[in-house]
Amino acid sequence: MLRVKVELDRSPLRYTFVSYRPELGTTGFGDAIVEMSDENGWAHFKQLPASTKGDFVVHAHNLAVRMLDGTNAGVGEVALRFRNKGDRARLNVSPKNETQFPHYQVMDRCYEVYETVFQSIAPFSGKSRGAFPHGGSDKPAHWHRRNPKVDCRFPEVLVPGKLPWVQPQSVTSGVPLMHIKGPSQDRRLFGSGRTPATTIAHEYAHAIHFSLLPSMKRWELAAKYALWIGKELANGRSGTHRTDKKTSPLIAFIEAIGIFSQRFWMYATVVEPQLSGRALHAAFVADELSTQPSLSKVLPGYAPIATVRADGTIKPRLTGASTEGAVYGAIFLDFAHRTDLATAVNSYLRCQSFDAAGWKRHVSTVRKQRYRDDVVAVARTWRL
Ligand SMILES: [Zn+2]
Repeated sequence: MLRVKVELDRSPLRYTFVSYRPELGTTGFGDAIVEMSDENGWAHFKQLPASTKGDFVVHAHNLAVRMLDGTNAGVGEVALRFRNKGDRARLNVSPKNETQFPHYQVMDRCYEVYETVFQSIAPFSGKSRGAFPHGGSDKPAHWHRRNPKVDCRFPEVLVPGKLPWVQPQSVTSGVPLMHIKGPSQDRRLFGSGRTPATTIAHEYAHAIHFSLLPSMKRWELAAKYALWIGKELANGRSGTHRTDKKTSPLIAFIEAIGIFSQRFWMYATVVEPQLSGRALHAAFVADELSTQPSLSKVLPGYAPIATVRADGTIKPRLTGASTEGAVYGAIFLDFAHRTDLATAVNSYLRCQSFDAAGWKRHVSTVRKQRYRDDVVAVARTWRL
């Protein structure tokens, strides 16, 4: 067996595909052998003798996302070739690989967002998923390599505007397609000065949400969503999310998970990095509902959503099914406060609807109508 270690600027690059193409004498090349790195960055090639020497390719493709070249209209994948490597070689994607390095940073961040925000919540928390955001833990590496579940064009230069966004269904691959702008256009991608890096925490949440929808639902959403995004881009909007402004029931509902994910990511990584699991979930909800939310100090443009009155009831600052912050507050804070955050996130991901009315219908009926009274109260409070 031969093994190689995949790294990103000397840190392990996890769950990333690596391939080796054996040379067959003078006749040419055989089929590529694909493996995936483990949680420590090691990729094990069981079919290769340890004495093998050759070229290995580290693909900008991991379990979370496949990175495509956003400067090209085709579906060119990003990859780096490491020449003449043998057993225990370190394949380090270095910042010196100026063109490709940021692709791997975006790819790795997508995985970190999955792990930090979603992995402890059903359906991801089930035994069969674990490290696999889109399932298939029983499938071999080459199957995952051939079946990407989320694509990401980066740096997106062909779609006009400054807005990063996620297309529910790519025309070419049929999976959600992230359009991520380069760091010179989007300061929130890698963070800069007082602007924290929140783009991927927001956009990957959309990708996860869309990837769980059946294909027909994604097509339906793509048609509706494209109309709105088209208008946004045509109007040259900057992509600042208008948490406290009215848009439409569709957009407010879709955006709610982006708001949740970017806020939770900041809370989990900056405010309370020592907490995890249920303790982290509970602390996040309590903090968001407090009179002085911690995130107001770390997220520029932070909009407070609600507070809790002395009698324990919620006092919203925003209302209505067309207001992004109100839908976020209703589901991810109020309903989470009544149940728990994992139940709230799961209800959003499972409901397969595109507005608060559909979420209400779904949650009222599940678990033998266990949440019916909570949903009625939440809808009344937030005027959904
Ligand atoms: Zn969004």
